[in-house]
Amino acid sequence: MKPNTVLVNDYYTTESFARIKALADQHETPFVVIDRNIIKQHYDNLESRFPYAQIYYAVKANPAVEILTLLRDRGARFDIASVYELDKVLGLGVTADRCSYGNTIKKRKDIRYFYEKGVRLFASDAEPDLRNIAELAPGAKVYIRILTEGSHTADWPLSRKFGCQIDMAVELLVLAKQLGLEPYGLSFHVGSQQRDIGAWDAAIGKVKIIFDRLRDENGIHLKMINLGGGFPANYISRTNDLATYATEITRFLKEDFGDHFPEIILEPGRSLCSNAGILVSEVVLISRKSSTSLHRWVFTDVGKFSGLIETLGEAIKYPIYTEKQGESEEAVIAGPTCDSADIMYEDHKVELPLDLQIGDRMYWFSTGAYTTTYSAIEFNGFPPLKQFIIE
Ligand SMILES: *Cc1c(COP(=O)(O)O)cnc(C)c1O
Repeated sequence: MKPNTVLVNDYYTTESFARIKALADQHETPFVVIDRNIIKQHYDNLESRFPYAQIYYAVKANPAVEILTLLRDRGARFDIASVYELDKVLGLGVTADRCSYGNTIKKRKDIRYFYEKGVRLFASDAEPDLRNIAELAPGAKVYIRILTEGSHTADWPLSRKFGCQIDMAVELLVLAKQLGLEPYGLSFHVGSQQRDIGAWDAAIGKVKIIFDRLRDENGIHLKMINLGGGFPANYISRTNDLATYATEITRFLKEDFGDHFPEIILEPGRSLCSNAGILVSEVVLISRKSSTSLHRWVFTDVGKFSGLIETLGEAIKYPIYTEKQGESEEAVIAGPTCDSADIMYEDHKVELPLDLQIGDRMYWFSTGAYTTTYSAIEFNGFPPLKQFIIE
C-alpha cells in the first residue's frame, strides 16, 4: 500500500486551486472548471519561447468563447477545422486573415464557404482536395501536410490519418502552382502530447528535403513551415518543460535552415488549455468483484462518454486527486454508463485512498483540453459535460 502521490502543487498554485475549488463547491458534479489565467500564462510563455513563430490556436482543444476571446485579444490566430468553428471565431470579431483551414478533409461547399469569408490559407494532403481548393478558393495559399513518425512516443497520435509521403508532397506543391494556387509551405503534426522532442527533428529534416527539392528542381520557393501541435501538458507521464522543447526545436530549425528561418507557425491546443482545467466528479459506487478481490472498482459520475474519451487505450493518464490522503490501494476506475467500454483505467492502476467513500469528489487534473468537446449529448440520458470559467 502506497499513499496517493498526486499533489495539488505539482499541478496548480495553491491560490489557483483554491479559487477553482471555491467555485466547484457550489455546483453539482460533473463539470470542468477552467482558470483562464493559466491559459494566458501558457500562451505568453509559448510566445516568448518561440518569438519567431505565429501561433494558431487549434480551436478543437477547447472552443469556449472565453478562451477564444482571451486568445483573440492576445493576438493569436486560429487553426480551424469546420465551418462551425469558423463562424464561431469570426463571430467574435476575429478577421479571416487570422484563420487557417487546417483540416485536410473538407467538403467542396465548405472550401467555398471559407473562401467567401476571406480565409486564404488552406492545408491539404491529397490531389482531389487540392483540385477542389484550386477551383473553389482560387489563388489561395496552400501548405501540404506530411506524414511523420514517432506516434509511439505521442500519447495521442495524430499521424496515420493525415499527411502524405515526401514524394507526393513535392508533386502536390508542383501541381498547386500549375493550378494557380500559391505553394506556400509544409505542415506536420508529430502527435499530441509528444514526449520525444526528437520527433520534430525528423519531421523538420523531411521538410528541408522538400524545400530543397522544390527549389532546385522546380524553382518553387516555399515560405512557411507549420510545426503543428504536440507540445506537452502536465499529466502523470513526465515530459520536458516547454523551454526545453523550444530550445531543441529552434536548434533543429537552425541546423537545417540556418539563421534565416522560413515563416514558422505553431498550432498548440493541449499545451495551452489542459493544465488550466480541473474536471470534478463524484464517486457513485465503490465495490469489489469478490470478497477476496485485491482491488476495488470505483465508479464515478464522469466517464469515457462524458469527456474522458482520451482515456481510450488508457492513452492519457490524468492525475486524480482526492481530499482523503490516507493509505491507498489500487483501484479500477469506471464511468456511470451502461456500456462496459466505459472504463477509464484498468491496466493503469490508480492508487486511491482506502477511506474514499461514495459521495466524495474526485479532481481530474489537467483536463482543460479535449474533454468538454468530446462529451456525448445524451448517452443514457446524461447531459454533456458542463464547463465553468474563472479569471
Ligand atoms: C488537433 C490539432 C492540433 C493541436 O494539437 P495539440 O497536440 O493539442 O497541441 C494542431 N494542429 C492540427 C492540424 C490539429 O488537428
